[in-house]
Amino acid sequence: MQFAGVAAQVHGRVTVVSDVAPGGLELIRRFVNTVDLPSGPDELESLESARAWCLSHGLAPARNSSHLAQLRDFRETLRDLLYANNREGDGPAAWERVRPFLASTRLSLAVSPASGLELRPEDKGPIASLLAIVYESQLLGTWSRLRACRKSSCRFAYYDYTKNGSRAWCSMATCGNQAKAQRRRLRERTL
Ligand SMILES: [Zn+2]
Repeated sequence: MQFAGVAAQVHGRVTVVSDVAPGGLELIRRFVNTVDLPSGPDELESLESARAWCLSHGLAPARNSSHLAQLRDFRETLRDLLYANNREGDGPAAWERVRPFLASTRLSLAVSPASGLELRPEDKGPIASLLAIVYESQLLGTWSRLRACRKSSCRFAYYDYTKNGSRAWCSMATCGNQAKAQRRRLRERTL
């Protein structure tokens, strides 16, 4: 799937090209950003909208409402992992929450004559495909750069391209400046 160089509108937020994750990881970023926290809108709100989102992103659609609830839970588990990639929250606990999702899917190693061994989803659910991307990006070393904004009420996903991996906010103009102003107020109060 090719997303590089695309500037897209996600819930009124303009996704700048510099946020776009490399390769298949962009699908994870878009999936996590299907909801604009803290109060929406949410592209996975109804079965109909979730089906449309999955199909337009090359994923098998959610089958029923319990499957949809599982998909939304998986999204928030991924967000917790991306928050941990930003040195926030509890990373080991977030990985523990991945266990039941992995148990509900089937993935296996397969030979791809062009590229060698490949992890392939054996069932058609979107979670298996997304888990395969997470695994692949860990091998490629790109996973730790996919992050959720440090502001806890935002946690919008972006890819950190900075040299030293120091980008903490989805946007310096909004969340970053708010955090700076808050720190300044706290400092002034303690003077
Ligand atoms: Zn943010």
